[in-house]
Amino acid sequence: MEDKFDCIIVGGGIAGLSAAMTLARGNARFLLIERGEFCGAKNVSGGVLWGSDLARLVPEYWKEDAGFERFVSHRRLTFMDEQSAFSVDFKSNHFAETPYTGVTVLRAVFDAWFAGKVQEAIDQSEHPDESFIATDILVEEVVMEDGRVVGIRAGEETFLADCVIIAEGVNNLLTRQVGLEKPYVASDHVAVGVKEVLKLDQNVLEDRFQLSGRSGLTNEFVGACSEGVEGGGFLYTNQDSISLGLVLGMNDLRDKQKTPYDVLNTFKEHPVVADMIRGSETVEYSAHVVSTGDIKGMPAEIFGDGVMIAGEAAHLLLNAGKAIQGMDYAMRSGILAAETALEASKADDHSSSMLSNYRKALESSYVLQDMRSFQDAVHLLHREEMFSTIPNLVCDFGRQFFTIDSEPTMKASAMMRASIKRHASYWDLVKLGLKGAKAL
Ligand SMILES: Cc1cc2nc3c(=O)[nH]c(=O)nc-3n(C[C@H](O)[C@H](O)[C@H](O)COP(=O)(O)OP(=O)(O)OC[C@H]3O[C@@H](n4cnc5c(N)ncnc54)[C@H](O)[C@@H]3O)c2cc1C
Repeated sequence: MEDKFDCIIVGGGIAGLSAAMTLARGNARFLLIERGEFCGAKNVSGGVLWGSDLARLVPEYWKEDAGFERFVSHRRLTFMDEQSAFSVDFKSNHFAETPYTGVTVLRAVFDAWFAGKVQEAIDQSEHPDESFIATDILVEEVVMEDGRVVGIRAGEETFLADCVIIAEGVNNLLTRQVGLEKPYVASDHVAVGVKEVLKLDQNVLEDRFQLSGRSGLTNEFVGACSEGVEGGGFLYTNQDSISLGLVLGMNDLRDKQKTPYDVLNTFKEHPVVADMIRGSETVEYSAHVVSTGDIKGMPAEIFGDGVMIAGEAAHLLLNAGKAIQGMDYAMRSGILAAETALEASKADDHSSSMLSNYRKALESSYVLQDMRSFQDAVHLLHREEMFSTIPNLVCDFGRQFFTIDSEPTMKASAMMRASIKRHASYWDLVKLGLKGAKAL
């Protein structure tokens, strides 16, 4: 069967669904193809969806029983050594104002809900019978003619379109096929994420984490959580479960001969984490590759004749220490790619010169601005000191500062000097501090 759409979207994750919502609202005729049984079936995130773009796509989503778990009202960054945890903690009522700036999500629930919202938008559009969300179909090939993308092939079927938005996620095989990505992505541009969903009685969870209504906590960890492997951990509260996981450097795992699930088990046994997850039951285990946020990992270009690359397929992600931002980047890039496709349809021009407006829009959005501004922080996070020396030093200082043991007490400055002496060279630390201040 041959058919022609204004646009075909490959991938029904956050980027693909955001593009689809924008196209439906713009009355385009489009086809979204997802290989999972349903949208969300194959997807893994920590996950906090940061930013407020969701409210742009689904206004006042918080008024219904939407697919999110909790809004983020409490944030914590924890430095760990083997026995202790020293946290920077921030809780504020301002987070309760809508639109929220962060919501925790479970992707199997959230993506399926979001796909339902896209279907509603299709039903209300001018072409309710000419746009489709098709699941359980793998796109095997992007069809090209004279160097220009003209459609896709799935099994025996070919579908044609004026343009294709590739939103296939980090394992970007089709992006490589159209020649925008190298055949192999360097292993230092990707990490591995492992995550468990731990079910806990809702009342116990809310009492334990001091949550009320739909408020939630995000806790990031550095130090002993990763057993000396480059990376860090996270704990996010859902309605009646906890998402607990790690993002670990692939090369470092290989060099240190560790497996992600062993490191995750050790993380769960840390006394501080064990107290947080006590009484819970593992109901889901998942692992997924994730970009490191190094801008050098981006494809050579994110548009071509008849094609645009959105979301993590374009390695759009930032982890500069405060949070992992991949879903919000996927959402914004999906919106911008679809807006460009709508403009291109109006002008009846889907050439690479027209679609370069997508790149321009992304460059002037917070996505590429922040990725460029925070590259030093991304690189700093990968330095050994950040996941060993610094957390050990901070916890050592914390142990002295908070211990009252019927002995003369040192001044805090003397304690700090003693901790530095035990863990680092003073000048190396000053240099690192200056770099950190500049990077953030
Ligand atoms: C452990 C972990 C924790 C994370 N935590 C966070 C977090 O807290 N916050 C955050 O913002 N980000 C987080 N991320 C990153 C975030 O998950 C991604 O950046 C985000 O999901 C990217 O969205 P996407 O739509 O580009 O890709 P995806 O969500 O991966 O969606 C791609 C879709 O395309 C489909 N697909 C792929 N190939 C084909 C094909 N050939 N044919 C048909 N369908 C296809 C897939 O099935 C999938 O549904 C985390 C990632 C991991 C692994």
